[in-house]
Amino acid sequence: MIVYALRCACGHEFDRWFDNMADYDAKKSAGLPCPSCGGTDVAKAIMAPRVGKAQPAPAPACTPACAPGGCGGGGCPVMSMM
Ligand SMILES: [Zn+2]
Repeated sequence: MIVYALRCACGHEFDRWFDNMADYDAKKSAGLPCPSCGGTDVAKAIMAPRVGKAQPAPAPACTPACAPGGCGGGGCPVMSMM
């Protein structure tokens, strides 16, 4: 699933979920009515699409001063690799 920010010709912005880009193309050619005014002159707004699956959590940040053997902190990624 992927969400696009869409904007109609009147400037209303809204989000719609699609299965993928092909699904967006199909729904757009079939007519994507703006929920505010019903206009179908809708285009993708400039926005990086958010993908609807869980993003991997960023690695916990270890302090820059962390020693090569690990800082001993519970969240230290160096320690968890040993
Ligand atoms: Zn509109």
